[in-house]
Amino acid sequence: MSSPTDERISALQEQVKKLQSQKDSLLKELDTVEERFEKMNQMYRKSFPVIIDTVATGEDLFSITCKDLSQALKKGESEGRIAYILEQLKTAVLKEGFILPGSKQKKGLFSAFKKGFPLSFIDEYKLSYHDVVNNLRSNLDEKYTGKLDNITARIKTAEDTADISEIRESVFSLIFVYISDTNQDRGKVNAFVQEVVGKILDIESNLSASYQQADSMFQTNDRFESVLDAEMKRLKQTSDVASSLDMLKIEVSERLVSIENALQKKQSKDKAIRDVAEKSRQSFKSGFAKLKQELDEATRYSEELEKKLNQDQLTGAFNRRAYDKKIEDEMERFSRYGTGFSLLLIDADKFKLINDQYGHAIGDKCLQEIIKRTLPLLRKNDMLARYGGEEFVVIMPETDLNGGKEVAEKIRQTIEKIEFLYKKDKVKVTVSVGVSQAREGDKNHLQIFERADIAVYQAKAKGRNQVIVN
Ligand code: GH3
Ligand code: MG
Ligand code: MG
Repeated sequence: MSSPTDERISALQEQVKKLQSQKDSLLKELDTVEERFEKMNQMYRKSFPVIIDTVATGEDLFSITCKDLSQALKKGESEGRIAYILEQLKTAVLKEGFILPGSKQKKGLFSAFKKGFPLSFIDEYKLSYHDVVNNLRSNLDEKYTGKLDNITARIKTAEDTADISEIRESVFSLIFVYISDTNQDRGKVNAFVQEVVGKILDIESNLSASYQQADSMFQTNDRFESVLDAEMKRLKQTSDVASSLDMLKIEVSERLVSIENALQKKQSKDKAIRDVAEKSRQSFKSGFAKLKQELDEATRYSEELEKKLNQDQLTGAFNRRAYDKKIEDEMERFSRYGTGFSLLLIDADKFKLINDQYGHAIGDKCLQEIIKRTLPLLRKNDMLARYGGEEFVVIMPETDLNGGKEVAEKIRQTIEKIEFLYKKDKVKVTVSVGVSQAREGDKNHLQIFERADIAVYQAKAKGRNQVIVN
């Protein structure tokens, strides 16, 4: 019969055996890993110098640093020395690998590798801003070339975030100048500007947030990994020298506590970094929201400017400038795609008489009233413009002579019914309307206008207050 103490001893002996065999197999595994590592290491040290010597033949900083690396590998220099050279190689790649479009591109086996190399925070900014400036360059006219060249030169020499923020300011001020200077179609201008600015906002907020976070994350991860490394090394030494299982247990649990502490520190540091990154992201966001707001205001101002440029001050209708542009566009569409259009020329009858009888102010009111009553009779795509004096034009896209005539008749009847009260008199006004349409063989829009003008003349001759098609 064995006593309970004997049983406990034999159970403990069993446990010791198990732990001993676990320890042995772990040590064996470690040996295999080390062996594999050593083999790989030897392979790298043998074959890398051969590859490097074949391709790094230049005299630039990158090639020279490559040669240093090759020498160090051949001589089997320390990890620290190799890491130092690799760091120098990274600097060389960043210095020489930042290839601006237009500058000479280096060809060779390493060029693809250089391009794929992670760029620094500032270099990524520089590349992104370079894209933005190129986009502006291909869309803006030559007037802006000097300013764009200046910005490009400053991008090349930019070294820190202060430089980048000056570049951003310059790009924005160039955009503001462009908005107020340009005479092109403002709808398109504004859409383009919004697109460019949107891109800048994206670049800035993404880069700043991601880099701040990544940089600090790397630091804490490095710190954690070095603790982990050190503890693992000590653990291995301990297992080599531990003379009793109890000692091994104590050492293992001590190391585990230390690793756990490091892990906890890392986690709380990670959280703090995330919080800071989020905060800075928010402040970036609000800074840009302000810039964007300023830009929206500039865009609104630009739209108002455009509207004023195209608007007749007295009646609020489109003016001659807008008419000229629209009829050119319609003519272009007609000759290109055969999309027809009609033109109405409306001339107030005996308007001089109205002025003479009731005064200029009443004459003005009549003109305003003609516009006010005519607009609701038109479609969204039609354009009503004051051609000059008491003459108005309506451009009706995709409308034939019949359609044009129908609308002209409606306008005539509507105006005829207007009655102003002036003192005791009823002021009445009528209009004569000439209708024409784009015809095959028309060389320009003036020919279409001329036919409408002739029609108005005929209407006047036939007694006014009529619609004539020509
Ligand atoms: P017709 O029926 O032949 O067109 O006669 P009309 O008097 O309308 O033609 P005419 O070309 O002889 O005169 C146009 C008049 O329109 C002369 C001008 O005083 C008046 N007029 C032009 N612009 C304005 C304006 O802005 N306000 C006012 N009140 N009158 C204007
Ligand atoms: Mg007239
Ligand atoms: Mg008239």
